[in-house]
Amino acid sequence: MIKEPSCADDHDPEALTVEAARLRILDSILPMSLTERVSVRSALSRVLAETVVAPVNVPAHVNSAMDGYAMKGTALPSEGESRVYQQAGRVMAGQSFVGNVAEGECIRIMTGAPMPRGTDTVVMQEQVEVEGDRVTIGSGHRQGQNVRQAGEDLTKGQAVFNPGKWLDPADIGVMASMGIGEAAVVRRPTVAFFSTGDELRSIGEPLREGEVYDSNRYTVYGMLTRLGCNVLDMGVIVDDPNKLREAFEAASRQADVVITTGGVSVGEADYIHSILDELGEVAFWKLAIKPGRPLTHGKLGNALFFGLPGNPVAVVVSFYQFVQPALRYLMSGEIDQPLLIPAKSSRKMRKRPGRTEFARGIYTTNENGEIQVDTTGVQGSGILTSMSRANCFIVLGDQQGEVNPGDMVTIQPFASLG
Ligand code: AMP
Ligand code: MG
Repeated sequence: MIKEPSCADDHDPEALTVEAARLRILDSILPMSLTERVSVRSALSRVLAETVVAPVNVPAHVNSAMDGYAMKGTALPSEGESRVYQQAGRVMAGQSFVGNVAEGECIRIMTGAPMPRGTDTVVMQEQVEVEGDRVTIGSGHRQGQNVRQAGEDLTKGQAVFNPGKWLDPADIGVMASMGIGEAAVVRRPTVAFFSTGDELRSIGEPLREGEVYDSNRYTVYGMLTRLGCNVLDMGVIVDDPNKLREAFEAASRQADVVITTGGVSVGEADYIHSILDELGEVAFWKLAIKPGRPLTHGKLGNALFFGLPGNPVAVVVSFYQFVQPALRYLMSGEIDQPLLIPAKSSRKMRKRPGRTEFARGIYTTNENGEIQVDTTGVQGSGILTSMSRANCFIVLGDQQGEVNPGDMVTIQPFASLG
């Protein structure tokens, strides 16, 4: 069923809030279940599809946390006293000390070397005096110090990671620390995308009067690639019903998700509505948002469909606010909460209550250690450089009115958007 947009002005009491639209979208998605096994390196930035159980203790043996001397710590010198230990051998990382260490003896030991039998304490090399094989230590030491216990990082049999986890560099390092070379991960979704508009030219073509280069396919490509999707770039499709129908059909046959830009605003040719209605279950939404008011969402065959606005900034805003959380949920089955941080505005900003505005901002830490944010200046939804200069969105919520310098606002750093 198509919901027709009305031509009412900007202030539309029926417009969907950002939060409501996000929930409706998430509600319509069934997380992916197809998985594949890949090497641990290839699992970086992918979603884990299995429970990883520690096959071993990490570390595997009790070992020294310092370069120094290992001894039995039962009779360490008390306050103001010292004691001489007899050095009876040495052990380096990767070796193991053969034999038993008697009370009163010590072993020269390096970081990571297994603790020799009979020892339980390490004194740092900087805290001893050595004369030949006589090692003198003072007071202030504690039995068991500077020793790493077997399994203190991971215990054999422990569930280390659960399905749905996005694997970061440290995570693949943890896998390697357990000797695990492969992992089951969620298959990458294939996302087909194309731009629509008679005025759009691709790079390499000359621009005639009234034409613009298609930039949306590049920002969309970039955002999808960062998310770890397989991308299928279908180029520019002109505003012709037959060409559009063919493109929608081809995209939905080949992809898990189809994204288009342009052609969904009020005043666009009505055939887009009828084609989408004919091919799938798609709703046209008016959102209480700026920029990015029109958004189309639904299903084309088995594929999820997002029809984003045409304006280049609106594309990025709607992608990050709606498509990115949807794709992350599709891949992981987990719903992310956006990272929102308070910051002090250094500028006056006009804002009309009743809609959420995503201004492009630059945040910095000021001399008082506070996070301060300024806009990138002119905020037109065609000014793509405002996005490339920004490092965050300034999120001005539905209730928010005008902002004065020094007021607190909420920012969403781009670094948190993957
Ligand atoms: P539309 O939503 O199709 O009416 O497009 C709104 C505005 O965005 C128009 O000025 C278009 O020229 C521009 N636009 C649409 N698609 C693109 C694109 N792929 N790259 C750059 N600008 C675009
Ligand atoms: Mg257009």
